[in-house]
Amino acid sequence: MRMQITGKTKIVGVIGDPVEHSRSPQMHNAAFAELGLDYVYVPFHIRPDELHAAIEGFKAINVVGINITIPHKQAVIPFVDEISREAELIGAVNTLIFNKGKIAGDNTDAPGFLQAMQETGLDIPKGESAVVIGAGGSARAIVVALALAGLQSITIANRTVSKAIALASDLSEKTGVPMEGMGLDNPRLPDAVAISTLVVNTASASMDTSHPPLIQTEWLNPQSIVYDIIYTPPKTRLMTAAAERGCHVIGGLGMLVHQGAIAFEKWTKVVPPIKIMRQALQNALDQR
Ligand code: NAP
Repeated sequence: MRMQITGKTKIVGVIGDPVEHSRSPQMHNAAFAELGLDYVYVPFHIRPDELHAAIEGFKAINVVGINITIPHKQAVIPFVDEISREAELIGAVNTLIFNKGKIAGDNTDAPGFLQAMQETGLDIPKGESAVVIGAGGSARAIVVALALAGLQSITIANRTVSKAIALASDLSEKTGVPMEGMGLDNPRLPDAVAISTLVVNTASASMDTSHPPLIQTEWLNPQSIVYDIIYTPPKTRLMTAAAERGCHVIGGLGMLVHQGAIAFEKWTKVVPPIKIMRQALQNALDQR
């Protein structure tokens, strides 16, 4: 259990609208308790019209760090003093670090995605190709992560073609990595999947177990890595089918743990207890 809250207890937390669904409090508070750190992680329900006042208030009361969730990830950018290259490219901030009256904005989804892959013992496929399915906020973070990590080319396939094309053209121009956006029914998609060492699903359709995978698993090279960032259910239909094909399969829980663990380390300067954080998150998800 956590220690008593005193005048010395440091405050971190998460803001969102809504925020009640967030499992981050369980994950971070379990980590603080494990390491005996005098911190507390609190969820704050902040409406969009109160965002600026909330940030100023956090500064005034010496909050150490804040995670940002929907709908504030873009809106918070004007209120930070400095922003990391990743967060700038992604166009979204999910972590604030308060230091001596200054606010740094970062995005830990991109490195969290990569760290979770490395944790499974797989190398980031530098110099090779990837397919990313989906073109929403998480796809943007992952495409930035892959581009900065040294992938050679990235295909973005999405139900709404215009979003895939816009994302590919914007991030290709900003990172210099060749990218192509296309629809899920594009006749070139099977080849793009077949030659890719990494196939990432970010489309939320994968949460629905009655929904078939958005790509056909016969297209996959059995040597490839199939990474589904959806974490409920823990094993999606895409993951099951890709495993049957012989692919290396990764689910979304690791990314969720690592994006939090990276924020934890930025705030506390202490190595995060990954195992404890994962277990706390798993328990919180199981209680749904
Ligand atoms: P988002 O911005 O709303 O994007 C949703 C994406 O899913 C869009 O590309 C959308 O396509 C696609 N999609 C939704 N329903 C579909 C369907 N029936 N058929 C085909 N495509 C469909 O959401 P997001 O922030 O990217 O998050 C996506 C998922 O990733 C969520 O389930 C979220 O929980 C998960 N996630 C996991 C982590 C992690 O740490 N593991 C981190 C972030 C997000 P259209 O553009 O055509 O609508």
